[in-house]
Amino acid sequence: MQQQSLFVREKAARVSTRPTQIPLYATSSFEFENIEEGIQIFQKEKPGDVYSRYANPTVTAVQEKLAQLESYETGSEASALLCGSGMSAISTLLMSCLQKGDALLTQANLYGGTTELLMKVMQPLGIEPIFINLKNLQEVEHRLQTHSNIKMIFGESPANPTLACIDLEALAGLGRKYGVRTAIDNTFCTPFIQRPLRWGIDFVVHSTTKYLNGHGNSLAGVIIGRDQEFIRDTVWTRMKLLGTTCPPFDAWLLNIGLKTLPLRMQQHSANALAVATFLKRSSKVTQVNCTGLPGFPDAELAKKQMRMPTGMLSFELKGGVETGIRFMNALQFCRLAPTLGDVDTLVLHPASMSHINIDREVRLQNGITDGLIRLSVGIEDVNDIIEDLELGLRSC
Ligand SMILES: *Cc1c(COP(=O)(O)O)cnc(C)c1O
Repeated sequence: MQQQSLFVREKAARVSTRPTQIPLYATSSFEFENIEEGIQIFQKEKPGDVYSRYANPTVTAVQEKLAQLESYETGSEASALLCGSGMSAISTLLMSCLQKGDALLTQANLYGGTTELLMKVMQPLGIEPIFINLKNLQEVEHRLQTHSNIKMIFGESPANPTLACIDLEALAGLGRKYGVRTAIDNTFCTPFIQRPLRWGIDFVVHSTTKYLNGHGNSLAGVIIGRDQEFIRDTVWTRMKLLGTTCPPFDAWLLNIGLKTLPLRMQQHSANALAVATFLKRSSKVTQVNCTGLPGFPDAELAKKQMRMPTGMLSFELKGGVETGIRFMNALQFCRLAPTLGDVDTLVLHPASMSHINIDREVRLQNGITDGLIRLSVGIEDVNDIIEDLELGLRSC
């Protein structure tokens, strides 16, 4: 056919040999050979991608990998759906399990965004959050007995910033006994350190933005569950219609991070333990929270359900908010940033940063004291991290 204009339609890139890396399918839709094929795919008689909000091959490859990681040694398979952020994964899961009139049993010291979601979005929709201490299993059982509208339990273990742990096996058991779904935000651990599905928990969510990606360059979240039909039908429909899908580029970056996950987690963990041990010896530190320290209240439970300590820790400086600010400003190596799980060491002073707009009383109730410092220990040479913390402590 004679070329009519300077508009040239490209041919789909076809490969003769397979690329070693998963291709980034930066496409919003997929074309059909003919109308018959389109009908078959739309009617689910033939597998095929249609539109990237529904599914995208790059995203699918990465979510399958995450499902395998999180269900490893659980004895059953799991399904996963990647979403555009940790918050979209959490909101999509909650919207899939809860309806108007239902209640959600959860803890007060959740990730701040999750608490806000429950208070500002879910509650006005008629879904009541009930905040208790999920470590207290008698209290959990009492609530389940007295509130028949509780349809789900949602927890974080270890919790932010105190690293208090919940007994996952016992919580899952109570969920089963009362026919209530259980979900754990496993962002702090990753499946390398803790796999809640193994203890009978129904769903795991992650902000993959943190450790799973590990390099601070992509935003995504994932929902993983043992009930594969529920994930593929009910949760997928919510994801598709709420539009909480993960963009392929973020999934593609996440996959690169996943390749080094075991290496990174081992280094994060070893560094965190060394840093915690160093901090414990300082006369300017009154309390160190790290699940791997002897004497930590939940050390035994952590040993049972966590393969090693996570890279997250927190510690209490003598003195108030002013001391915390002086400590933070003296640091030269650690970075002051409100995220976690990066290869770089990140430090946060909640009282003057993330929680500055929260009432001091409310902040204290949640364990966020004036001198509390949260550290996301990176994978650098641990001596560099310790030297920098020494600099900070000297200025206190
Ligand atoms: C960061 C974080 C979230 C939210 O994830 P985004 O990717 O920022 O949306 C949820 N839970 C925990 C524990 C987190 O650290």
